[in-house]
Amino acid sequence: MFKISEIANQELIEKFIAPGPYYTSYPTLGAWSANVQEHEYVEALSKWSQRENDKQVALYIHFPYCPQQCYFCICNVTITKDRQKINTFLQYMLTEIDMLFSQLGKNGDMPSFQAIHFGGGTPSYLTEEEIISLVEKLNSWIDVRQLKEFSIEFDPRSATPEKFRLAHELGFNRLSMGIQDFKLEVQQAVNRVHSFEMIDSLLTSEVRSYFNSINFDLLYGLPLQTRDSFHETIELIKKLSPDRITLLKYAHVPNINKHMKVLDNYPTLNDEEKAWMFFEAMDNFKSNGWNHIGIDHFAKPTDSLTKAMKNRTMKREFIGFSSHGCDTLFGIGPSSTLKTSYAYYQNTCNLETYANSISKGRFPIQKSYRMSSDDLVRREIIESILCEDRVGLKKVEAKYQIDFNSYFSEEIQGLQHFVQDEMVEFTSGDIQITPLGKIFNRHICKEFDRFLRNKHYEIHGTGNKNHL
Ligand code: SF4
Repeated sequence: MFKISEIANQELIEKFIAPGPYYTSYPTLGAWSANVQEHEYVEALSKWSQRENDKQVALYIHFPYCPQQCYFCICNVTITKDRQKINTFLQYMLTEIDMLFSQLGKNGDMPSFQAIHFGGGTPSYLTEEEIISLVEKLNSWIDVRQLKEFSIEFDPRSATPEKFRLAHELGFNRLSMGIQDFKLEVQQAVNRVHSFEMIDSLLTSEVRSYFNSINFDLLYGLPLQTRDSFHETIELIKKLSPDRITLLKYAHVPNINKHMKVLDNYPTLNDEEKAWMFFEAMDNFKSNGWNHIGIDHFAKPTDSLTKAMKNRTMKREFIGFSSHGCDTLFGIGPSSTLKTSYAYYQNTCNLETYANSISKGRFPIQKSYRMSSDDLVRREIIESILCEDRVGLKKVEAKYQIDFNSYFSEEIQGLQHFVQDEMVEFTSGDIQITPLGKIFNRHICKEFDRFLRNKHYEIHGTGNKNHL
């Protein structure tokens, strides 16, 4: 196994830190249009039900509230301690579930749901009764116990043994927790304090037995972090032994997220040092049993994400890489997104607009994108690079009726510097991403991004949760 921290040089570091999308969708959100009518979404659901209802699907539910602002956060959240407000909003989300499922079941058959992810915000901020009411609502349409994956995000600060047990009893079989960093000064600066001992005492063997997979989110590049301090965090993470690790880069964008402004006052490492933090953490995880899944994801060999990567059934989606194998994703809650083979739709991020739409029985759609045939082939190539480390040229040619070499002559030319760096190989019938290239694969994807080539959207270089 090679170690990136042993071979990295200035040229590789510059390549790694170059800005670029994380391709949780293609085209990325910047290319989507706000010029969308609700009836288009209803028609899209109806069209999908008629044509593709036999497909396996997944659902993301976005709960938008948190009790306290973490200063690094780029998620679509509202801070409140008003329990009545939360409960009222939850009722709108339950109504949206009814609206979506009744549309999907209109032709008699409900699609086969394989996975539901409950994220946010802080789903564990809901009371036990509220979590029960959400699962009961889902169970009124499908049987959540039949899901392959039913995951929930917990903030350790609002986690209790009782809530973990309840999640288990309700059928949740995957858990994700934001850890970010264990250095106290960093935690105090970003307004999110929870010790290693607290996490360790929460994750008893009984709690671990409830879940097939436990994921930790970590953040590198936070103010006051150093390479040494982050190494200490990684050592503590190894002791806690999560099945999956998502190692995200902090994106400091105070012009977009005003709460980040307070972090201007703290020292932060430069991009080069941040790249070293990532490389050192990556090598540490790989040397200690976690596989590099792609971009910022790591998983143990026993985890379903590793198995999906090896079986070539892994998918790239809005919350990262997934093992459920579904191409169609539905969304519930503000900012959540629908992905089908031919379009994307996104719910409004504004809670008031969301509530108003739902109360009128209208889907709260704010953005959409209709895929052209060019988009479809490029998305397939980008997802193949990210999820399979290769592109099967013959398969693409047959599926999209193109001559790959002439259709993508500019892109092939653009890939040559990756070939020279031994990141990409052209083998008979394949573009192959090498183990070194896997670390740079989102940059390889950029060569196939028509919008980036035409400068249709800006890159903010975010590596934070819900990045697009
Ligand atoms: S990081 Fe998580 S807990 Fe913190 S404000 Fe954002 S969504 Fe809420």
